[in-house]
Amino acid sequence: MAKLLAADASWEAGNATLQTFGGFGFAREYDVERKFRETRLYQIAPISTNLILSYIGQHVLGMPRSF
Ligand SMILES: Cc1cc2nc3c(=O)[nH]c(=O)nc-3n(C[C@H](O)[C@H](O)[C@H](O)COP(=O)(O)OP(=O)(O)OC[C@H]3O[C@@H](n4cnc5c(N)ncnc54)[C@H](O)[C@@H]3O)c2cc1C
Repeated sequence: MAKLLAADASWEAGNATLQTFGGFGFAREYDVERKFRETRLYQIAPISTNLILSYIGQHVLGMPRSF
């Protein structure tokens, strides 16, 4: 749950940063595009958001296994 929340918070922060910097957010020298790209990683690794939600659905909410 902590990883899920941290990944979402990181993504929201990266997204807000890019929006704030506007076009300059895409300029390499500001490093915002790099942070934006790297924060997206936490939706994928070390475990993806899909699999965390799948685990919660099955083991916390008692839903059937989805795969
Ligand atoms: C930069 C980087 C560093 C890494 N470092 C390490 C490391 O040091 N050690 C290590 O062990 N691994 C490492 N990994 C691997 C990482 O753990 C995997 O990339 C991660 O677990 C996702 O697995 P996958 O890449 O095989 O994607 P897949 O499992 O093929 O997933 C692809 C997509 O399908 C979705 N998906 C998969 N299964 C389901 C499902 N059942 N239901 C719904 N959606 C599903 C996923 O959410 C994802 O969106 C690293 C990866 C990256 C990108």
